[in-house]
Amino acid sequence: MQQRETIIVLDFGGQYNQLIARRVRECGVYCEIYSYRTPLETIRAKNPRGIILTGGPNSVYDPASATCTADLFAMGVPVLGICYGSQLMMHLLGGRVERAPEREYGKTEVYVDTESLLFQEVNPTTICWMSHNDYISQAAPGFKVIAHTDHCPVAAVEAPDKGLYAVQFHPEVLHTQQGSLMLSNFVYKVCGCAGDWKMDSFVEQSIQNIRAKVGNGKVLCALSGGVDSSVAAVMLAKAVGRQLTCVFVDHGLLRKDEGDQVEAVFGPEGPYDLNFIRVNAQQRFYDKLAGQDDPETKRKIIGEEFIRVFEEEAKKIGRVDYLVQGTIYPDVVESGLGGESAVIKSHHNVGGLPDYVDFKEIIEPLRDLFKDEVRAAGRELGLPEALVARQPFPGPGLAVRIIGAVTPEKVRMVQEADAIFREEMANFGLANAASQYFAALTNMRSVGVMGDERTYDYAVALRAVSTSDFMTAESVQLPWELLGKVTSRIVNEVPHVNRVLYDCTGKPPATIEFE
Ligand code: GLN
Repeated sequence: MQQRETIIVLDFGGQYNQLIARRVRECGVYCEIYSYRTPLETIRAKNPRGIILTGGPNSVYDPASATCTADLFAMGVPVLGICYGSQLMMHLLGGRVERAPEREYGKTEVYVDTESLLFQEVNPTTICWMSHNDYISQAAPGFKVIAHTDHCPVAAVEAPDKGLYAVQFHPEVLHTQQGSLMLSNFVYKVCGCAGDWKMDSFVEQSIQNIRAKVGNGKVLCALSGGVDSSVAAVMLAKAVGRQLTCVFVDHGLLRKDEGDQVEAVFGPEGPYDLNFIRVNAQQRFYDKLAGQDDPETKRKIIGEEFIRVFEEEAKKIGRVDYLVQGTIYPDVVESGLGGESAVIKSHHNVGGLPDYVDFKEIIEPLRDLFKDEVRAAGRELGLPEALVARQPFPGPGLAVRIIGAVTPEKVRMVQEADAIFREEMANFGLANAASQYFAALTNMRSVGVMGDERTYDYAVALRAVSTSDFMTAESVQLPWELLGKVTSRIVNEVPHVNRVLYDCTGKPPATIEFE
């Protein structure tokens, strides 16, 4: 197989490392993230077309700081240093970096030399995002200054004969208005990439690779109905057809009609030729959850029961050769396997192999993809838009959107309320106005009056947040007419709800989900 053109991002602990890789891929060039500790031989062996050094929290003149060998700059591979990466390049090659008399933070006017390959087609004065305390007071010998700001004499440098470029600002964040153009200039004009990272060829190549690997082996996939497992399943179905068995456990905590939607795609009436097993385990989960009101206990019960059910099905199937997992690239990076970021969470999909299925190997067809690329792959594979564009949904499902103990009746209440909310968001043309929105059932009951009769019923809370990374989020200002319409429909159509509340809290201090 011909090697894919690759740009390597060397991660010095900056906040935007994944963003750099995503932007490069948006330019049509494949990109991977590695820790700055990665030995030079390992990097060389990957045969990269270019290397990008990220930002980072340290100061290069501090001896304990993250660093790399100066040999990196002499490999004949183009290097772009960003922020800390730019300072490090200058520091290692004989320039001077020190505490800036004035720190720069935020959108800043930068005056660039449009003769440089890096700034082709960029406006001579362009807004860039700055976030630094140190600055390059003197460029390294052999480097030409190609940008400055009112406070920063060296905002970018180049040594084009060596393929070395460095920028003090962050081209990867959207606040840098022409950042994508600069990154594209780097990968195409400096590194000479052809741009072979295309979703159609990725999908086609993956299908061929899977076919070659699996041979006539048997493959098992646990379907949750979420985007990742669905895309992985379809890819496998296209590759090996009936050698694939998908087990879909309906725990009775899905959104309204979601189980049937999954069955419509993957079941016998759907377009794919595979073995599909739907386990209607709703009652088992409800029985186990009865009377349990502690959020962590609820999560644990659901997780364990899920494994039990899956295990029973796997036993019926017998030995399989491969187990499919929907691991995606951020899971890999955040588990500390890719970049430098501290282990943010040990992801359930990475490392922890399920010991309840007898199989010889794991297949992770989406391991190299960012979330938006997974959706693009899903579209390429012909998955319905409703499935591909699905909002994030917690693994334990609606159990975390029902405060207190779960009962089948409460599940129905929250399903109906949520469906009404989603339907009206679409009717108002706002289906994409928030990153995530849903209804939750609070455990609060209060007095109301309906048809001249006293009621003592539940309150539904609506939540809509906007976020780019799901780490922080803001409550979205929804139009009052929409909230009014949803409220009146919910109290009229969902029995035992007499009050609808809107959650105005951001994250932090709240979380996106309720629990
Ligand atoms: N820590 C360095 C500085 O303050 C680099 C900052 C960065 O990479 N964002 O200048």
